[in-house]
Amino acid sequence: MSATPQLSVIIPVYNEELNLPTLFARLYPVLDATGRRYEVIFTNDGSADHSIDLLRAQHAARPDVTRVIDFNANYGQHMAIMAAFERVRGEVIVTLDADLQNPPEEIPKLLAKIDAGHDCVGSYRLNRRDSFFRTYASKIINCVRKHTTSIEMTDQGCMLRAYRRPIVDAIVRTGAINTFIPALAYSFSSNPTEVGVKHEERHAGVSNYSFYALIRLNFDLITGFSLAPLQYFTMFAGLCAAGSFLLVLVLAYMRVFMHDDTNGVFTLFGILFFLISVAMIGIGLIGEYVGRTYQVVRARQRYHVKEMLETKA
Ligand code: UDP
Ligand code: MG
Repeated sequence: MSATPQLSVIIPVYNEELNLPTLFARLYPVLDATGRRYEVIFTNDGSADHSIDLLRAQHAARPDVTRVIDFNANYGQHMAIMAAFERVRGEVIVTLDADLQNPPEEIPKLLAKIDAGHDCVGSYRLNRRDSFFRTYASKIINCVRKHTTSIEMTDQGCMLRAYRRPIVDAIVRTGAINTFIPALAYSFSSNPTEVGVKHEERHAGVSNYSFYALIRLNFDLITGFSLAPLQYFTMFAGLCAAGSFLLVLVLAYMRVFMHDDTNGVFTLFGILFFLISVAMIGIGLIGEYVGRTYQVVRARQRYHVKEMLETKA
């Protein structure tokens, strides 16, 4: 690469052989038209199809602006982006999906916001083209996120985003494993904004996210940014303990003052409920500490790069 690029575009690729040719044909002209020095970093996230061959060919065709990180296995979209973040050379970084759901033609809109002084530009899908289930599931998770974390985001699922370099460097320094990059970026930003972008149906192929993978991803989002689930659990246990303590009092009163002996077995229940609730509080509290420990202990090699295709800087 001749001079340091101003713009780095990052694209995670997992089984996208049907989309890559169109992506190349649409993306590079858009970037050429920006008039900025740029690089495109593709991370091949352990694709089982011919994606890597297409990426190789693209690297051979545009070696000046194309870099390819080839993972040995599938580590997930966010880790694929993270690996590219660790290697970016540009001052402005844009992330984009390979399936053309976010049109590359929208990139200049985000760059305009960066030029206007924002350090983190999110996006929301103007006319979402996903299944009914996906659209509603993400509405629900948006709502949960709003109430459990302090992250403000209209549409967390849209990965067409732009960041200034210091934000990306801060994300890299966290060394996070199970993370949600847009949320992490938001937490480091001092001047975030959002733009509406067009959304298209997947150009070809099917979504790489199964129902289970979506649940895992959203679980990472909630647990990675908040201890609220644990705290709610402890509060619930506290309420149970208070309720069963009241029950014990009522039963004891009836027994001593009303001489109502028919409730013996219920007294036992009352005491049992109380003790169980106390045990639940204990579990909740241990959970709090395990949760906090988990937040600091996560340290292991997160991915393995099999090969790097790039021209030395
Ligand atoms: N992706 C990836 N690794 C994975 C799953 C997905 O790199 O394990 C990439 C995929 O190639 C695409 C982007 O992440 O570029 C978004 O994936 P997808 O379109 O399947 O997700 P959806 O749009 O359905 O949320
Ligand atoms: Mg998609």
